[in-house]
Amino acid sequence: MIPYGKQTITDDDVRAVVKVLQSDWLTTGPSVRLFEEKVAEFVGAKHGVAVANGTAALHCALYAMGVEPGDEVVVPAMTFAASANSVVFLGATPVFADVDPETLLIDLADVERKITDKTKVVIGVDYAGQPCNWDGLRKIADRYGVQLLADACHALGAHYKSKPVGSLADASVFSFHPVKHVATGEGGMVVTGDSELARKAGLFRSHGITTDARQREEQGSWFYEMVDLGYNYRITDIQCALGISQMAQLDGFLARRREIASRYDAVFADVDGIEPLALKSESLHAYHLYVIRVVGDGLDRADMFRSLREQGVGSNVHYIPVYLHPYYKDRFGLDSGLCPHAEAAYEQILSIPMYPGLTDEEVTTVCKAVAGYVGR
Ligand SMILES: *Cc1c(COP(=O)(O)O)cnc(C)c1O
Repeated sequence: MIPYGKQTITDDDVRAVVKVLQSDWLTTGPSVRLFEEKVAEFVGAKHGVAVANGTAALHCALYAMGVEPGDEVVVPAMTFAASANSVVFLGATPVFADVDPETLLIDLADVERKITDKTKVVIGVDYAGQPCNWDGLRKIADRYGVQLLADACHALGAHYKSKPVGSLADASVFSFHPVKHVATGEGGMVVTGDSELARKAGLFRSHGITTDARQREEQGSWFYEMVDLGYNYRITDIQCALGISQMAQLDGFLARRREIASRYDAVFADVDGIEPLALKSESLHAYHLYVIRVVGDGLDRADMFRSLREQGVGSNVHYIPVYLHPYYKDRFGLDSGLCPHAEAAYEQILSIPMYPGLTDEEVTTVCKAVAGYVGR
C-alpha cells in the first residue's frame, strides 16, 4: 500500500542520532539549541522554541500570547483538532470561522464577523501547505487589536509574497510528526520575532521554571525559580539531532514535493470530475498535502477512497470540520450549518499520496488509480 504520507530517513540521520546517544546529553542539550537556530533561520524568525510536539507548540504560543479563560480565539473550521484544542487547554473559547471554498484557507470576511471584544488571537492555518492571506489577516489584526498565530504545521518551506511562512504572524508553529516536512518522531516548534513571546513560550515548556539544567550547570548554580504553572513539554537532544540532520535535506524534500504536485496538476487537468484545490499566484506552496476534490456527477468520495485502497493507494480526509466532533458539539453546543463551505468541502476532499520518497512509478500508479475510478 502506498501511504498518503511518510518520512524519509537517511543513513546520515541514523548516524546523527547515534552520535547524540553516545554523548553526555539525551534531553535538553546542545542539539535542541542548534535545531532551534536552524529552523528559525530557515523561516526568517529571530527565535525558536522547540517542544515535544506541534500541539504543545500551539499551547505554548497561545499561553505566551496571554490567552486566558474568558478569551476567544478565532480558528478555521477546516483544520486538525489540535488547532482548537490548544485554545480549550487554556480555558478559552475557540470560535470557528469558515474557509474559502476554492483554497480551504480561512475566509477573511468570516473572521471579521467572528471577532468580538473578547477575541485575543486569530489563528491562520496554512492548509495543505499554502499560506493564508497574511496581509489581509494583518490588516484585520491591526484594526481590531488582536494577535496573529500561524498554525504552519503544513507549511514549513512555504512562502507568501516571497516571505517565508514563519515570519508572517506574531508567532508561528511547526510540527515534526513523521508525515510533516521534517521528522523528529514527535516534535514541534514556536518561532517568533518577539523575544518576550519566545521567553514566555520557553518558560511554559519547562514547568514555568526560569532556567534549564544545562544553564544551571553552565552558571555553576543550583538555584531556580518557578514563576508560573508550566508543563513538561521538552523535546530531547536525540530528537533534535534527527531534526538538524533532516533540516539539511529540507530543500531537496520540498523540491520533490513540488515536482510530484506538478505531475498531479498536469494529469488531473485532463480528468473530469477531479479538481485540485486552487493555487494562489502570490504563494509558493510547501505541499504537506495534495488535496483533490471529487466533484464529478456520479462520483463519490467514500467510494473513491475504497477504490484507491483496492488498487494499493492510500488516501485520507483532512479534515472533518472541527466543531462537528462530538466533543465540540457537546461542550460548546455547536452543530452543522455553522461553516457551510467547510462542511461542503468535507464531503468532497481526499488527500492523495504526497511525500518526498514517492517514486515516479508510484506517482503513475496513483494517477492511474484516480483516473481509473473516474472512468470506471
Ligand atoms: C500536525 C498538526 C498539528 C499538531 O502537530 P503534532 O505534532 O501532531 O502535535 C497541529 N495543527 C495542524 C494543522 C497539524 O497538521
